[in-house]
Amino acid sequence: MPFKRLIILFCLAILTLPAHAEGFITRLLNKPVPGGVAVVTLPEQSEAPRAHYQDQPLLVIREDGQRWIAIAGIPLTAKAGNEYIELADGEKVAFKVTDRKYPEQHIKLQNQQHVTPDPEHLKRIKRELDEQISAYKTFSARQPSNLLFDRPVEGRLSSAFGLRRFFNGEERNPHSGLDFAAPTGTSIKAPAAGQVILVGNYFFNGKTVFVDHGQGLISMFCHLSAIDVKVGDELARGEHVGKVGATGRATGPHLHWNVSLNSTRVDPSIFIGAFMP
Ligand code: ZN
Repeated sequence: MPFKRLIILFCLAILTLPAHAEGFITRLLNKPVPGGVAVVTLPEQSEAPRAHYQDQPLLVIREDGQRWIAIAGIPLTAKAGNEYIELADGEKVAFKVTDRKYPEQHIKLQNQQHVTPDPEHLKRIKRELDEQISAYKTFSARQPSNLLFDRPVEGRLSSAFGLRRFFNGEERNPHSGLDFAAPTGTSIKAPAAGQVILVGNYFFNGKTVFVDHGQGLISMFCHLSAIDVKVGDELARGEHVGKVGATGRATGPHLHWNVSLNSTRVDPSIFIGAFMP
């Protein structure tokens, strides 16, 4: 193509850009479906606005030095239609949730306790669930180091987020994270900087690490064979967290990775640019 024509095309492209072009973060993360993420532009003001969705504080950042955006996790149980972010002064900003269908997955488990636990196990499960739910409520002031996450392990994506799950024919909670198939011992790395806020060895999740990336953005890594960090550790982006394993309710070695925003588990594939509508 002649150089002159290229220049003309380039100028046309600039002219046709909308006045308020979406920034990189909005283009990357705005997937407003149940289990997805809504990126919502907030009214202009000098300080970062405080914003809530369903009574949970939201991650708010400055995009391209131009606008405040709230990044809200949308629960899997949300219905298509308008949802509202609430600002400190009571003002509401609407965003629209569109439908997304999630397929079923049927899994055979050898250990029937992992399908229908007895009362003793149920007590343990409840205690562990409370501990994990309160970790997800952590809201620290830090800014996430990067919102385009690095993949926490090398490996094939083996099980998608949101699958409706049936264990030995019985429906249980939908899949709350993303699975990577990887051999036992593979290093798991922090997808962004953060602080270790909880480690545990849980009935369903096995050996587990929670990392707070800031403002309610939290990663959970499950089924580890080894945990190589402790609560309070500050992790740099890419720092080693532990090793892939098959502890807890797992049919083989893999990493189960949850991403949570405003105490809501969302599709981690959005954060690694692998989201498929
Ligand atoms: Zn999983």
